[in-house]
Amino acid sequence: MIASMLTHHLTEAELFSFADEFAKTLPKAGLIALWGDLGAGKTTFVRRVIQSFSGNFELIVSSPTFNLIQIYELPNGELWHCDLYRMTCPDECLELGLLEAMSDVLCFVEWPERMGAYLPKNRTDIRINITGDQSREIIILKDA
Ligand code: ATP
Ligand code: MG
Repeated sequence: MIASMLTHHLTEAELFSFADEFAKTLPKAGLIALWGDLGAGKTTFVRRVIQSFSGNFELIVSSPTFNLIQIYELPNGELWHCDLYRMTCPDECLELGLLEAMSDVLCFVEWPERMGAYLPKNRTDIRINITGDQSREIIILKDA
């Protein structure tokens, strides 16, 4: 893995601008793993990326906390948004069809650590750290 981007002390508005730029670089398929504490801003970031990618800033992107997966059928492709916080066993990845999905479509996954040994090496990692009440640091690590 190589560190491709590191951005310090972003306000929410700056995080949105960063998400807009990131949305332009999305691959067709694969795992984008979002790491960070509760309330770090994973959903906030993914919401803006999905809205920006779809060109629809009114699109409702809610946190899939209870159903674990939300699938978006966008004009420019299918996209999965997962929040695995409540997943109790990595084997549930199989039931959810997540591993198959990520070979065909783009999957944003919050709490990827819940995937355990199923976490693929081939992925993009995004870490969001809380650096202040209203400020965040984002680190993006892409496969070399
Ligand atoms: P969870 O692990 O519970 O899913 P999360 O990482 O998805 O948490 P969010 O649900 O996105 O976190 O919540 C982040 C909160 O932090 C939001 O209320 C957002 O408005 C707020 N916030 C404040 N400043 C920022 C910032 N600079 N960037 C992103 N979010 C920020
Ligand atoms: Mg979230």
